[in-house]
Parts: sequence; structure tokens; C-alpha cells
Amino acid sequence: MMVVRCILGQHNLWLVFVAALLCFSGSWVTASLFRHALRAKNSQWYAWLFLTALSSGVAIWCTHFVAMLGYGGGASARFDPLLTSISLLIAVVGSTIGFTLATCRFARFLPEIGGVIVGLSIVAMHYTGMLAYRVQGQTSWNVLYLAVSVLAAIVLCVLAVRAGVRSGRWASTCMAGVLALAVLCVHFIGMAAYHVQVTQLPVDITGRPDDSIVLAAAIAIMSFLIVGGGLVSGMIDDSSRADSVEKLRRMALNDTLTGLPNRLNFHQRLDLELEWAREHGGRLALIGIDLNRFKEINDLRGHKAGDEVLRILGRRLRGLLQDDGGEFIARTGGDEFQALCRVISGEQIKSFLHRLEEVLFKPIRFEDSEVLPGASLGVAIWPDHASDKEALINNADLAMYRAKADPGRHPCFYEPSMDEKVRTRRKLAVDLRQAVKAGQLAVCYQVQRVIATGEIRGYEALVRWNHPTRGTIMPDDFIPLAEESDLILQIGEWVLRTVCSEAVLWRQPYKVAVNLSGMQFVHTDIAHVVSTVLKETGLPPERLELELTESTIIADQVRALQVLRQIKDMGVSLALDDFGTGYSSLDTLRRFPFDRIKIDRSFFGASRANHQTQAVVHAVLALGKAFEIPVMAEGIETKDQLTMLNAAGCDEAQGFLLGRPAPLADIVKNGQITMNCAH
Ligand code: C2E
Ligand code: CA
Ligand code: CA
Repeated sequence: MMVVRCILGQHNLWLVFVAALLCFSGSWVTASLFRHALRAKNSQWYAWLFLTALSSGVAIWCTHFVAMLGYGGGASARFDPLLTSISLLIAVVGSTIGFTLATCRFARFLPEIGGVIVGLSIVAMHYTGMLAYRVQGQTSWNVLYLAVSVLAAIVLCVLAVRAGVRSGRWASTCMAGVLALAVLCVHFIGMAAYHVQVTQLPVDITGRPDDSIVLAAAIAIMSFLIVGGGLVSGMIDDSSRADSVEKLRRMALNDTLTGLPNRLNFHQRLDLELEWAREHGGRLALIGIDLNRFKEINDLRGHKAGDEVLRILGRRLRGLLQDDGGEFIARTGGDEFQALCRVISGEQIKSFLHRLEEVLFKPIRFEDSEVLPGASLGVAIWPDHASDKEALINNADLAMYRAKADPGRHPCFYEPSMDEKVRTRRKLAVDLRQAVKAGQLAVCYQVQRVIATGEIRGYEALVRWNHPTRGTIMPDDFIPLAEESDLILQIGEWVLRTVCSEAVLWRQPYKVAVNLSGMQFVHTDIAHVVSTVLKETGLPPERLELELTESTIIADQVRALQVLRQIKDMGVSLALDDFGTGYSSLDTLRRFPFDRIKIDRSFFGASRANHQTQAVVHAVLALGKAFEIPVMAEGIETKDQLTMLNAAGCDEAQGFLLGRPAPLADIVKNGQITMNCAH
């Protein structure tokens, strides 16, 4: 304490204060620049090292020099310019070498070695600076203090560098504090080691010449400027880094294409909403959304169109959100979205679902045509349908798959029975993969007759799956499953080949109608497949009819028209299946070369009132007449229906009344078909 008071007593306290300020601020800037250098690579690393060394060297040297200007050991003094300059050089060069080593990651102890060098450079700077300090008097040194100053510099600088290379919030501050301590220790312990025996009249230290104060002020300003420059470059880098971090954070949480929150963001939000719901005793709806026709759009019109559709949908979805209901939508997969909504009232969730559907089912104009993405929505509510996050997501998914399988149910709310159904469905999908190879598929034929005469017009081929344990599975239960993967392509081609190769053997040249799935239309060159199969089997093209629904052709009408023309040019005829259930657009009939319209069987079901059926039949017949396309009624089960159709002028019919779908062998047995060779 005595020593400290004695040393301070020999200094001008104002200049000591300025020196200390310089020392702390310089160390702080040095530490922050050092941390930049640590993170930087290549040319940036050199740049940050240069700034670190400059700010450290200047801070060390100026602290010493300003303090020395404030030192009055009782003798008048001056500074040797050469040695003073060398002392500055030592501080800068020593810092450069020390911090370079400290930021290298080649060897384990390089930071410590770097610290030692920085410490030694402070010592060397200080004592060279003291050599430059020329006093009128006898000077002597206390070796013990001198040794302590060296030791303190080395130990503190090693500690400072070690603190600086650590990760953590306080690394920079710790480094700055310890570095400043090292500089101050060297100076003040060094000054304690220094004694001057005055040989002339003592000089009053409070009355130092004005020019040293001016010099001290100039040096302090210069050093503040240099250190300030380092500080500003660090701040600029930090703020541009903060900008980049913010940009990265936004990119990490948002989908770049649609601007909607992404999967990660969705999970974070779901966690928060569930927490909120638990705390407030609220309920939360999770809506799983899957676009129905996105794959088609992408495949038919290219990825650019797909991206554009997603971008437009993203914008519309963002636009429908109302913040006060805790509404949130994220894109969680290619064409999958998840929406969240606090269930405050039944009306409000209904309104949210309605708004979602409005956006998802609104046509999107792309180039010169419109696409209709459509979507399947599945809703699960916490805590009614699930007790935790995973179950909630899973159950919304189940409901969504249910909505997909049953397009009439929009949106579909989760029900516990769905679990079992989905499990069965998944198992069935696995079995189906083997079905074609294992020869479990078979074709049945259902007769189609001319109503007026009762004569046979042809047969519709209907596929069956003879499952080894479940028995016969009907196409409605496995075709949609096959359509979820590319299996339908394999099955479709198998049916076509089987039917053509069987029909070619019939003595009666009846037509055979084969159903085409939309997927076959989209994912294969179906015209090529048909022509190959016809060539291979030898079936005359006029005997083949392909049945397709409006949904198959509606996605890309230009391409559909081209493909249908190719098929027609081969001589194959085309039937528009299930008419009345889909778009039933006049445009379809006008633009596409159909040879037959099939009125959907649902119009003849038991639930339909007779007058309704009649109205539909008359309307479709009128259309058929207008476009000169014959009409066939499907699902005819009663004589009355047949009589009504006959009276209305319907051309052809198909239904249980006229003949149930049956294996070819049975039809051959009952004599309707005879084979050209042994079957
Ligand atoms: P679809 O093309 O409308 O075929 C007619 C369906 O109506 C057949 O059902 C047939 O058994 C049934 N049906 C015929 N007459 C009557 C009747 O009088 N009353 C009732 N209630 N139903 C009748 P099936 O065989 O179960 O086939 C269902 C659907 O599966 C077909 O509907 C068709 O869309 C699809 N499908 C069948 N075979 C194939 C195929 O090889 N490929 C593709 N892509 N789809 C197929
Ligand atoms: Ca059909
Ligand atoms: Ca049909």
C-alpha cells in the first residue's frame, strides 16, 4: 500500500487517470479485435491481426508514455527520440508476434506462448522506454521489483490470452481486464523498481512544464483515435455479422420459396402454443394440409410452374391469417403444410377452416391456363384428440390421409377408429407390392349391353386382388393405395396386357374396356404403352376402349388432348367414365374426342329419388345428343331403371341386372364368349 501510494505520489494523477483510461479502453478494443481475428480466416485474419496488434501496441506504449509524462521522480527529464520510437516498435511488433501465435491453431500451447511473447513485449517496451527517459540524476533499479514486473507481465498476459481464446460471453471482457492489469502492473511495479538520485535542484512535479501536458494530450488523442478506429471496425463487423445472423436465423426458420414458416419454426411454435394452452386451459387445433394435385402440376408443367403455384399459395395463405386467434401456417414439406389455431369457439375454428379451403381451392392462373391445386385437410384438437405433441401431429396426419382417401369429406376431423384403419392400410400397401409378382391379381369382366336390343356390346375389365389371407379385395380398396405410389403404373400395364391378350382369343369381336388411372396418364407415355401392348398381343385397336375420368385430363388439358388424339389415331376408342361426379364440364365434351359417356353408377343407387335420376339421365342424354356421343348408364340393378333408360333413349347399359363382373372362365362357361383356342 505504501509502495502504491509512494509511486502514485510521484505521478500527476490526471495523467495517471488518462493513462489508465487509455490502458483499459485499449485493452478492451484489443480483446474484441483479437476475438474477431480468432474467428477470421485467410485475408480477414491478417486484417484483424494487424488491427489487434496496432491497437494493443499503441495502448501499451501510450499508457506507458502518458504515465511517464505524468511522472516526476523529482528530477527534470527528457525523452530520447530514437529509443522512444524503438519502444513503440517493440510494443507493436511484440503484440503482432504474440497475437499471431495466439490465434494460430497449429499446436496446443501456442496461445500460452503467444501470451508470454505479449508479456515480454510489454516488459521490453517499458524498460526500453525507461532507457529513453533521461533524467538529471543518478538512477538505480531494485532487481526484485524488476523481476516481479517481468513475472507479472508474463503470467497476466498468458492468463489474458487464455481467457480470450475461450468461448463464452465474458471471454472478451476477462481478456481485456487481465491485459490492462498486465500493462498497469508492468508500469507501476517497474516504476517502483526505479530510483532517481537527484543531482540538481528538485523539480516540483505538480509544476511540470506545460509542453509535457500538451504532448501527453496529443499522444492520448492520437492513441484514442487509433484504438477508436479499431473499435469502429469491430462494431461494423459485429453489426454486419448481426445482420447476417438475423438473415440466417430468418432463413433457418422460414421457407425461402413461400415465405411461410418452415418445419423447424412450426415445431417451435407448436411447443409454445401447447404450453400456452396448458397454462390457460385452452384448446389447440392442428390442421394437416396436403395438396391434392401438386405432383401432377409439377410433373406436367415443370418445376417452375410448381414453384410458382407454391409461391402464390404461400402468399394467399399468409394473407388469410388473423393474429388474434393464434393462427399460424407453416410449409413442412414439398406440398405439405401445417396450420395451428387456438380453439376459442366452434365458430372461429370453422371460419379458419373455411378461409383455408377458400385459398386452397381457389384456381391459380399460370401462364395461359388455370390450375386448381385442391388439398386434403385433417384436423386434430388438443387435448380432445391427443394428449401430447407427437400424438397431435400423428392424428392430424391420420385425419388428413382420411380426407385424401375420401374427397367428399372436407375437412376431416380425427376419430379414434382411424388408427386401426391406417395400420391396416399400411400393411395392405406392403402386401400390394408383392401382389403383381405373386400373380395375385385377376381380371373380371362385366358385360355391357345395347338397351334397345339387349345384345352384348362389350365388356368392362375390372381388376381384383386375391389376397392370400384376406380373400378377394375390391379395386376401390387397393387402387387408391396403388395410386399413392408408382405401383399403379405396374398394375395398370399388367391389366392392359392381360385383357388384350385374353380378348384377342375371343371368337366374338366384342369391345373390351380398360380403366386408366390418372397417374398412368401423367407418369407414363400411355400412348406408347397402349400401342406396344396392342402390337405384342395382336388385339385389333378397334376392340379396345379406354375409360378415363375428367379429373385425369383436367390438370393439363393441352397435353391430355395431344395424348388422347394419339390414342384415338391408333383406332382405340375412349369413354368418359363416372360422368356427373366430377367437373361435368361441357368444355370437356367439346374439346376431347370421346366416343362414349358413362353416367356414373351413383345416380342409380338406392339413395337417389327416381325423379333426380331421371333429371340427370335426361340432361346427360341431351348433352350426348348435342355432341353426338352415345351414352351408357352404369350400375343398373332393376328392370324399372332399364325401362326408364330405354324410354329416355339411352343407348347402352351396364349393371348387375345385365350381368355381374365375373372371371373370363365363368363367362366362357355360360356361353357368352367362346375362345378361339383352348383357354
Ligand atoms: P368403375 O370404372 O366405375 O367400374 C364399375 C364399378 O361398378 C365396378 O366396381 C362394378 O363392379 C360396379 N358395378 C357394376 N354394376 C353395378 C351395379 O349394378 N350396382 C353397383 N352397386 N355396382 C355395380 P369395382 O369392380 O369394384 O370397381 C370399382 C372401381 O375401381 C372402378 O369403377 C374403377 O374406377 C376402378 N377399377 C377397377 N378396375 C380397375 C383397373 O384395372 N384399373 C384402374 N385404374 N381402376 C380400376
Ligand atoms: Ca370404368
Ligand atoms: Ca364408372
